[in-house]
Amino acid sequence: MIPSAFEYIRPGSLSEALAQLAQGGDGAKLMSGGHSLLPMMKLRLAAPGTLIDIAELPELQGIMIGTNEIVIGAATTHAQLEHHAELAEAMPLLPSIAGLIADPTVRNRGTIGGSLAHADPSADWPAAMLALDATVEVIGPKGQRSIPAASFFKGLFETDLRLDEIVVRVRIPAGSNQRGAYRKFRHPASGYAVVGVAVVLAYEANRCSGGRIAVTGHSAHAFRAKAAEAALAGYAGQPDQTERLIDLAFTGASPLEDRFADADYRTQLGRTMLRRALVDAISPV
Ligand SMILES: Cc1cc2nc3c(=O)[nH]c(=O)nc-3n(C[C@H](O)[C@H](O)[C@H](O)COP(=O)(O)OP(=O)(O)OC[C@H]3O[C@@H](n4cnc5c(N)ncnc54)[C@H](O)[C@@H]3O)c2cc1C
Repeated sequence: MIPSAFEYIRPGSLSEALAQLAQGGDGAKLMSGGHSLLPMMKLRLAAPGTLIDIAELPELQGIMIGTNEIVIGAATTHAQLEHHAELAEAMPLLPSIAGLIADPTVRNRGTIGGSLAHADPSADWPAAMLALDATVEVIGPKGQRSIPAASFFKGLFETDLRLDEIVVRVRIPAGSNQRGAYRKFRHPASGYAVVGVAVVLAYEANRCSGGRIAVTGHSAHAFRAKAAEAALAGYAGQPDQTERLIDLAFTGASPLEDRFADADYRTQLGRTMLRRALVDAISPV
C-alpha cells in the first residue's frame, strides 16, 4: 500500500504545467484531486516518476453560468459543484449528480476534470457530460482542442486525450426547455455507479421533441443510447413508450461483468435506472 518513490512538483501556471508534462514524458503524471491516481499508485498499478499537481492552477478553477452555457474549470471539485447555489438554480442536475459521488471526503478532493480524464467505466460525470452534450476543452503543446463528449470516451479508462494534454474546462449548453434526471445504482462499498443513467429531454411547445440518454457503469465506457434517443420525440411517459425506449437503449450494448454484477444483472439494473430516470425527467419535482 506504499507507492514507489516519485518527485512532486506544483507548477504555478498552465503553461508551466504543460512544459513539465512535456519534459517528464511517459514518466510524468498530472494529479488533480488524486482520488483515482493515488489509490492506483498505492496498489502499484501506476508508478509515475513525477507527479505534477495541477489542483490549484488558476486557469482550471471556477464555475461560470452564462445565458447559453455553463463553463466549469477542470479542477472544480465535486463538492464545489454540489454546493453551488447559482448552479443549483441554473442546472440542478449537476449538483444533484455531484452529491451522489462517493462520500464527502472524495467529493472534497476529486475533480470533474480528473474524473473525465480518468474515464473510469463506473464514474458518474461521463454519463452527465454525454447527456448534456458537453464539450471538453483541452490544451497541449500544439494548442487547444475542443472535444465533444460524444467522442471523448474511447474505451476502458481510455479517452481521446493525448499524454501531453491537460483538460482545462468543460462547456455545457444551457437550454431552458429541457428537463434532466440521473439515476444510479450505487456500489455498496464505493458509491461508484454499478450502472448510472442520465436523461435529458428537450421540449418544444410542451411536447418532448427529443433528447439524450447516456449510460455509465454498464459497458467499458459511458455511451449514448442512440437508438433510444431517436425514438424520444413525442415521449409522454406512457408505460409502453418507456418500455420501448428501455429495449432500444440496451440492445447491442456489451455489459461488463464483475464479482458484484454479472452481465444480465447489470443490464437489468440499467433498465431499471433508465425507467426511473425517464419517470423523473418527465415529471420533475
Ligand atoms: C473510495 C472512492 C469512491 C469513489 N466513488 C466514486 C463515485 O461514486 N462516482 C464517481 O464518479 N467517482 C468516484 N470516485 C472517483 C473520484 O470521483 C475521483 O476523484 C475522480 O475519478 C478522479 O478525479 P481526481 O481529481 O481525483 O483525479 P486524479 O486522481 O488526480 O487523476 C486521475 C487521472 O486523471 C488525470 N488527470 C487529472 N486531472 C487532469 C486534467 N485536468 N487533465 C488531464 N488529465 C488529468 C491524472 O493524470 C490521472 O491519470 C471514487 C473514488 C474513491 C477513492
